Amino acid sequence: MVGARRPETRWVTRLIPLFLGGCVGFSTYVFVKRICVDFYIENRHESHVATAFLSVYFVSFFLMLLTYFRVFLVIQFDPGVVPLGPLAVEQKKKEKERRRSSGCCGRSVDDLEANRYEGYWPDPSVDSPGLERFYSKDVFICYTDGRPRWCSSCSNWKQDRVSHCSEIDRCVKKMDHYCPWVGGIVGETSFKFFVQFTFYTAIYCTVALVAAGMSLRESLQEEVTVDGFVIGLLVIAGFFGIFTFAMTATSVQYICVNLTNVDYLKAQTLVHQLAIRVPRGTPPGPDYGVITYPLPKPQPSPTSPQSSGRTAVSEPVSSRDLLAQRTFAVVRTEKGENPFDIGVYRNWKSVMGNNIIDWFLPFNRSPCESFENSESFYEMGPLIQELRARFSLPEIPPNEKGGLELSELNGRGKRDGDGML
Ligand SMILES: [Zn+2]
Repeated sequence: MVGARRPETRWVTRLIPLFLGGCVGFSTYVFVKRICVDFYIENRHESHVATAFLSVYFVSFFLMLLTYFRVFLVIQFDPGVVPLGPLAVEQKKKEKERRRSSGCCGRSVDDLEANRYEGYWPDPSVDSPGLERFYSKDVFICYTDGRPRWCSSCSNWKQDRVSHCSEIDRCVKKMDHYCPWVGGIVGETSFKFFVQFTFYTAIYCTVALVAAGMSLRESLQEEVTVDGFVIGLLVIAGFFGIFTFAMTATSVQYICVNLTNVDYLKAQTLVHQLAIRVPRGTPPGPDYGVITYPLPKPQPSPTSPQSSGRTAVSEPVSSRDLLAQRTFAVVRTEKGENPFDIGVYRNWKSVMGNNIIDWFLPFNRSPCESFENSESFYEMGPLIQELRARFSLPEIPPNEKGGLELSELNGRGKRDGDGML
């Protein structure tokens, strides 16, 4: 389990389920006893109306509870956080030991300051763990120098679509937002269930609003005393109904354009930098730099590797090592372009599932969780081909198209004598 760093957020997250349970308990009492039993069955003898309301109410109630527990449990036990890098693990241990030896009691000012690993940005080692996972792909998101993005807090390379959540101080895949209502961080593993939960809650609230509104209107027409509990239900259902309807609508919008909440906030101005594979040894172009992996071991003094093919050539490179090298052009998208947009329907299916049962029931997980191929971490859209044409990037010749074996890459990373074209 990964909890929030700030104590107040942790407490709010713990108390909210109790508050929600109280609201649901109150709503169920008013709906069943006061509206259906007392008003429609005993006063008006309209048991068919009560039966219809009760059926719709409990179906939507069941689906709301089912999706709530699904999203809550996923967030607690599999929130899609990225493992910490070795430096962060080491630092975390030291922090724990330091707190223990200083006799500091539990949560303290360290709650805010813990887990800061500044000063490791980014790992300068050419054999940095995890780096090979990027250059075994054909496309990945990178910095200007062609290296993948780096998280200084987690001391780890950030895969595409990973963002650091300051609330839990961990990197999260397709991070959307921290939501105390469902117990934590909503991201790749939980977003589908989150949307289903807000959708069924909006329906549940609508059913309660309709029943409460009808019984109130009929009470006023018959000049019967208005039940204060029914007014209370109207207020609660109205508040949560508007809230969850708005959440559902915005979440569906994000899914259709294949953006997370984090992406969407800066979507109009965001410029992606992409490393796109080109033939081995391609020189820098007028509008792009190039980088070749594995990175060279700098000689004689340790300096950061540079882009645009400007390299410190070290030892002679064997022909086998030459074959393992991969060159990437570093290009920039225009503002607002989204390389992960694969069309509305496929965007939808990548999150919600491949059939209509998956869209409505919270059992199977999002297909994008299990997507990964030799080309990219997530499926990418036609923008990649557009960028190739826009920057006149040469195509990969057939003799370079075979994927690198990971075992070969791992072995390659351990050997000395890495070089660069
Ligand atoms: Zn991080």
